[in-house]
Amino acid sequence: MLASKREPCRQRGQLRCQTMNTPDAGLFDKIVNLSKRRGIVYPSAEIYGGFRSTYDYGPIGVLILRNVKDAWWRSMVQKRQDVVGLDASILSPPAVWEASGHLSNFTDPLVDCRNCGARHRQDKLEKPDQCPTCGMSGQFTEPRNFNLMFKTTAGPVEGAGAEVFLRPETAQGMFINYANVQYTSRKKPPFGIAQIGKSFRNEITPGNFVFRTREFEQMEMEYFVAPDEADKWYEYWCETRFQWYLDHGIPADLLRLRAHEEDELSHYSSATADVEFLFPWGWDELEGIANRGDYDLTQHAKSSGAKLEYYDQVSKERYTPHVIEPAAGATRTMMAFLMAAYDEEQVNDETRTVLRLHHTIAPYKVAVLPLSKKPELSVPAMELANELSGSWMCDYDQTQAIGKRYRRQDEIGTPFCVTYDFDTLEDQAVTIRERDSMEQVRIPLADVRSWLSERLVP
Ligand code: ATP
Repeated sequence: MLASKREPCRQRGQLRCQTMNTPDAGLFDKIVNLSKRRGIVYPSAEIYGGFRSTYDYGPIGVLILRNVKDAWWRSMVQKRQDVVGLDASILSPPAVWEASGHLSNFTDPLVDCRNCGARHRQDKLEKPDQCPTCGMSGQFTEPRNFNLMFKTTAGPVEGAGAEVFLRPETAQGMFINYANVQYTSRKKPPFGIAQIGKSFRNEITPGNFVFRTREFEQMEMEYFVAPDEADKWYEYWCETRFQWYLDHGIPADLLRLRAHEEDELSHYSSATADVEFLFPWGWDELEGIANRGDYDLTQHAKSSGAKLEYYDQVSKERYTPHVIEPAAGATRTMMAFLMAAYDEEQVNDETRTVLRLHHTIAPYKVAVLPLSKKPELSVPAMELANELSGSWMCDYDQTQAIGKRYRRQDEIGTPFCVTYDFDTLEDQAVTIRERDSMEQVRIPLADVRSWLSERLVP
């Protein structure tokens, strides 16, 4: 994790208190270990020796990932009148990818090291001539374009006509359904179609835990606008998407918006900017926001023969909408949230590990902890947990000393722990402990739900 010159030794713990702009190399291993230990992310097919670059999300991870996706959906669909949702198929025929340009252009330049046989993505090499695996220079083969799409066959007969592709992005589902959605939802530009789902890329060099995997989840939105409004909406979405990460707890010093240079832009894009996070290995992309012009709709209209236009009743003009696309990775963003939230601090000569996750991202919002396992406490405490579960993910834990239980909840980022003790039987009140400050307040049992509601606003 990065330590900031502007905020030296701030309360958020030692990991961020190193020299300026020095990512904490140890943080990466800490997140991988915590993920395995606490059921956030497991290596896939582990009992068969593992399967490189695939991961399974455990009981805690599945909640965090779901919360990331829900937070995105809430801000992109639920809280807006101009964006609707879609869930398109993962499998699609070659015609889609022919039209979108993916069949010919969705490639990465691949080089092999003649010395050690390692394969690398040429555009990601730090030293263009030196193999990062064996260190030898001048041993690379000529670059070859490697198509990243996974191909399979549909139906029992192999061969032409049976060939299908797993989508490498969710975006094309929105473009090919533009007319369906526009007609059925009766939306007028500016309006958007949003989708969350799995995408697949046969990455040459997957790695950095869930940062780059061959199977991952994306959160994408295509925003259709009148051509002369595209620049304005591009600026709007750059700002709005950047703010989303801040609003969900990533500190400003770990985020930046980087505009692409001319030579980085796709031929159809007039502007693209990446939201980047300061990972332990340096700045890297969480999301790209692109002004894609009318490229996608024009391509699909040409190839399919469908009319993918908008007729403006007022101006009596017909036009192909331009598209602004904010495209984010859910799995990659989850990793950034974990890294930004991870903290260690000394409390009573012990190291407290705490995930300072924003409450919307935290897997459990609350945990109910009876001070003793005895039925006079555990039975009503379990009743309270069951009641709170109707509104929030609520954990219940009655094993080991209360201090240990608090630490376990801190480690997975639970914002509030409700302790049910012997006094509760007398005063009908409980103690609520806040994760970050560790402060405790005594609240009447009858007020617990409203107390939490005020603090857990989505
Ligand atoms: P990169 O340059 O890292 O390969 P990209 O620019 O090709 O990414 P996009 O096509 O813009 O990525 O996809 C949008 C988002 O999807 C990315 O910002 C990232 O968060 C996520 N994403 C893309 N590829 C992967 C991957 N292999 N694993 C995990 N997330 C990914």
